[in-house]
Amino acid sequence: MTEALQHPMIVDTHTHLDDPAFDADRGSVIEASRGAGVKHFINIGYAPDRWESSRALRERHPEFGIALGLHPQLAAQFDTLLIRRLKRAIDDLAPVAIGETGFDFSRSAPSFEEQERAFRGQLDIAASTGLPTIIHQRDASDALIEELENWPSLAPIVLHSFDGTQRLADWAMERGCFVGIGGLATRRSAEPLRGLLARIPIDRLLLETDSPYLAPPGTSSRRNTPANLPGIAAALGPLWNLTSEELCRLTSRNAAGLFGLPLTDRAT
Ligand SMILES: [Zn+2]
Repeated sequence: MTEALQHPMIVDTHTHLDDPAFDADRGSVIEASRGAGVKHFINIGYAPDRWESSRALRERHPEFGIALGLHPQLAAQFDTLLIRRLKRAIDDLAPVAIGETGFDFSRSAPSFEEQERAFRGQLDIAASTGLPTIIHQRDASDALIEELENWPSLAPIVLHSFDGTQRLADWAMERGCFVGIGGLATRRSAEPLRGLLARIPIDRLLLETDSPYLAPPGTSSRRNTPANLPGIAAALGPLWNLTSEELCRLTSRNAAGLFGLPLTDRAT
């Protein structure tokens, strides 16, 4: 209780803690993250085997919520059988969101047609379930806007680890999207990105690490963990004239509302 008063509650809204990178020490990573103030985690199951490992993680650690979907880099796997399996997993596992899905044009494959089919299939599921959609976007800002314009009645959209154009940032603000911020934006080379993020309203921001990916600069390991979130919040808070504590508290409130997390912020 006193701990909850001293430390702002933090939600890491995008983790892959089921990743093999944590097989040797998953429990202690989660414990250390909790010690750093991270009280809730959204683990993203981005492929059928990750749906199962995300479920297993949540079973051991009730402070996890899970999202279920198919990563755009795996879009070639998307067929009618996978749609059926995904729908069944959603019914059985009660995820808090669909994803991560979207467009990733940073590699030559999967093809646009494959990614479009997988993305549309998941948007259709998101629309019919009313669950938020977590979007992965790389080098695809315009295509993303064009596709999402076809889905005006989706539940909230999360642009995870935002790294888009000015046009996408403007569109996201108009559409009321949530915007995930994390280690990527703390990189020295990310000054233009920080310029875009500073204009996103505070009530649309979510903190995330994307662990084990996107470790912020200056951390001892290239493997990212949720325990890095207070440092990330300290680096990014000034963009909105917020302290690390304020950014943690406000983004956690956003996350709790968005994902329906059973959180109580005793500090306010
Ligand atoms: Zn991810």
